Amino acid sequence: MPPTLHLNGQEILPGQTRDIYLEIAQLPTHTPMTMPIRVFRAREDGPVLLLLAGMHGDEINGLEIIRRIMADKRIRLVRGSVVAVPLVNVFGFLHLSRDTPDGKDVNRSFPGSAQGSLAARLAHSLLTHILPLADYCIDFHTGGASRSNHPQVRLDMKAQPEGLPLAHAFAAPLLLNSKLVDKSFRKEAALRGKPVLVYEGGESLRLDEQAVQEGIDGTLRVMKHLGMLPEAPAPQTTTVTLADSTWIRARKAGLFRPLVHNGEYVRKHALMGTLADPYGLTEISLKAPHDGWIISTNYLPVVNQGDALWHFGEV
Ligand SMILES: [Zn+2]
Repeated sequence: MPPTLHLNGQEILPGQTRDIYLEIAQLPTHTPMTMPIRVFRAREDGPVLLLLAGMHGDEINGLEIIRRIMADKRIRLVRGSVVAVPLVNVFGFLHLSRDTPDGKDVNRSFPGSAQGSLAARLAHSLLTHILPLADYCIDFHTGGASRSNHPQVRLDMKAQPEGLPLAHAFAAPLLLNSKLVDKSFRKEAALRGKPVLVYEGGESLRLDEQAVQEGIDGTLRVMKHLGMLPEAPAPQTTTVTLADSTWIRARKAGLFRPLVHNGEYVRKHALMGTLADPYGLTEISLKAPHDGWIISTNYLPVVNQGDALWHFGEV
C-alpha cells in the first residue's frame, strides 16, 4: 500500500491531485500570502519529484515550465508523485523583483528561520514542509540582470555524484559542473541527501520559448528515467559537459556589442565582441581567452568596468 503524503495538515492519497496553499506571512493589508503547491500522485508508489520555480520572483521561465507541465492533460503519472511549487517567492513576483521586498535573496537565506526575514521564512517553510517529502528536486532559474543563460543543468558533480544520472537523463544542451553555494537551497538539500538539479534558461522578466521547451522536455525525461512516465520527448541536441567556467568581464566601460552568442563554441583568440566609448573615439576588440562554450551573454548595451559580459565554459 503506497503511503499517504501529508502536507499542510492535508492528506494526499495515491491517485489524488491536490492544490495546497501553504501560509507564509500576511501582507500589510492583512491579506494572507500563501505559497501555492500542487501535489499529483500516481496510484502506484514510486519516487517523489519536487519541482521548484520562482525562488527569484522575476525569473518567469521556470514558472511557465511548471505551469505547462501541470496544465498538460496528456502527462499522466504511472508511478510516484510530483510536488510542484511554481512560485516560491510570491512577493518578488508581484513586484517584478528577484528578491523579497526587504531586498533579501531567498536563495541566499537557507536554512532560514520561522521568525526571520520574509526570505528566511520562505526558506524555512520550504525546508521544513516541502523538502522532506521529496526524493529528488529540480530548481528552475534564469539569468539575472539582462544576462541570458543558454539552457543548462547545473550540478556539483563531486559533491552530488548521485545527481549525474538525473542530469544525463535531463539532457539539456549544457551540463555545467557548479560548486554548491552557501545558504542556497541546493546546498541545504544536498546536506539532507537530496539530489538537486538546477536548471537555468533564458533571462529574468522575459519568457524564452526555447528555454521553456528545453525545461519541460528535460523534466519529462527525468520523470521517465525515474519510472514515473512511460515516455518523454527525445533530446534535440547532444549535451556538452563543462568541467569549469569563468566570467569574461568588461576591461573598460562603454557600449557593449556581443558578436558571439549563447551555445556557440569559440576558439582561442576569436573575436567575441567590441567595447566602444559612446562618442566614436575608441573601440576595442574582445578576444576569446581560450577555447570554450558561451554559457551566458549579457544583453545590456551599456556596461561598467568589471561587468560580466559572458559566462564562458571549458570542456
Ligand atoms: Zn534564480
